[in-house]
Amino acid sequence: MNILEQWFEENKRDFPWRINRTPYRVWISEVMLQQTRASVVIPYFQRFMELFPDVKSLYIAPIEKVIKAWEGLGYYSRARNLHSAAKDIVEKFGGEIPSSEKELLSIRGFGPYTVGAIRSFAFQQRARAIDGNVMRVISRYFCIEEEITKPAARKKIIEKTEELLDPNIPWVTSEALIELGATICTPKPKCDACPLQNTCLAKERNREAYLPLKAKDETITLLYRIVFVFESDGFILVRKGEKGKVMADLYEFSYIEVERELEYILNQADQLFIKLTPCNHTFTKYKAHLFPYLIKTKQFESENEWIEIAKLKELPFSSGHRKILTEVQKLGKL
Ligand code: SF4
Repeated sequence: MNILEQWFEENKRDFPWRINRTPYRVWISEVMLQQTRASVVIPYFQRFMELFPDVKSLYIAPIEKVIKAWEGLGYYSRARNLHSAAKDIVEKFGGEIPSSEKELLSIRGFGPYTVGAIRSFAFQQRARAIDGNVMRVISRYFCIEEEITKPAARKKIIEKTEELLDPNIPWVTSEALIELGATICTPKPKCDACPLQNTCLAKERNREAYLPLKAKDETITLLYRIVFVFESDGFILVRKGEKGKVMADLYEFSYIEVERELEYILNQADQLFIKLTPCNHTFTKYKAHLFPYLIKTKQFESENEWIEIAKLKELPFSSGHRKILTEVQKLGKL
């Protein structure tokens, strides 16, 4: 065992997905961990396991229930992909997640990282699992001065990661690299606490703060939306996101996209609408500024659905609209 693996055994954090490492638990936790920090994932993972303890229970669950369990994690396409992958696993492999790279890659939504993580952590095979943390550690440790999104740099990172894998316990090295990137070799590295500090090239050359080199971030598109919460005798008008769109299967209130300037005009209309607190909602490359209003009205014909207030909490809402619903309920307006 090398210094890195030793450090990992002594310092690894306790997480529920590190107990009882079935391929299913590894798969679900790794998809969730691609979304957000591990501490945030814990309650989501535990609840998901209670609701869907294995592939078959995920397969037979209605998609709305899966998305509801995902609510708050963002990137809802990943929840939909989990559901499709469960179908593949049941239909092609009788509900058992296979162990070979070829079979794993044939499952919908299983990319190289997920496959590497399952082979490594669940089946203890020699397989690389390279996420953003590992990219950062490797690019610094070997002082790779190339933009890490470029294919040549990626190839180098893969080769260097494989070089580091311990011949006897490669799965421990894989996980140790992820842990090191998540806790020590973070965007602001804590080199003094790092087990690799004596052999790290970036540290030797004072390049740790500059690596990895990245291309400029994708531009965020700002959106301005006036949101209307129509209430009529205990019913609220909501609509379900269209299939194939970013917000597919999530519920939202009605809204219109407006120019930034229109917000000023609508601010004068307090007598007609009950103005709620503006809030933001970021998804993929968009940042939507939401300006919500509650409007008490008679029910009118609409392509959207009038749903009883008591049932709204059972529906998955996009995060911005969930904030609006929470405020309306707190105000006692319903
Ligand atoms: S010494 Fe610093 S830069 Fe190098 S791997 Fe460790 S934390 Fe990262």
